[in-house]
Amino acid sequence: MSDIYIALGSNLEKPRQQIHNAVKLIGKIEGLNISLISSLYQTKPIGKTNQPDFINAVLKVEGIISPEKLHTALQDIETQAGRIRIELNEPRTLDLDILLIDNLIMKTKELTIPHPRMHLRQFVIIPLLEINHGLCVPGIGPIKDISKSLSDQGVIKV
Ligand code: ADP
Ligand code: MG
Repeated sequence: MSDIYIALGSNLEKPRQQIHNAVKLIGKIEGLNISLISSLYQTKPIGKTNQPDFINAVLKVEGIISPEKLHTALQDIETQAGRIRIELNEPRTLDLDILLIDNLIMKTKELTIPHPRMHLRQFVIIPLLEINHGLCVPGIGPIKDISKSLSDQGVIKV
């Protein structure tokens, strides 16, 4: 049984509804159960700033699934939400990122775990602190310390 953390984000087409719908669909992935859901957070876009604010949240799920299968299942849910992949930091109806799977460290062409930018993103670290303040990012350190090192990125609980 693995402890898996997933980040959710949306800034198009009713973002809150997109997040709620995604949580429902993630709960239906075979072999997984949702164990914790953070609050929703409104956050300023990173990179391209001339786009709507994002709604972000994180989930803890428990279960038995391979990283590849989980990645495919999450991409299917993104596609169902009408996501079109253009480039990094584009507005999107739904973004689902695998943050952590236990203490796993892996890197393939498709998948890097822990997520390579999670420790730079207050919109990931703040909701993670809310659901498990004792969490560590393998190879990086406790999220409490990461949180202290990040400057304010305009993340507001909604
Ligand atoms: P981002 O989430 O960083 O804004 P995208 O959602 O467009 O960017 O994803 C870009 C690529 O990141 C995807 O093709 C995916 O294969 C890859 N990727 C690498 N590691 C992960 C991960 N841990 N979770 C989700 N996608 C990942
Ligand atoms: Mg993504």
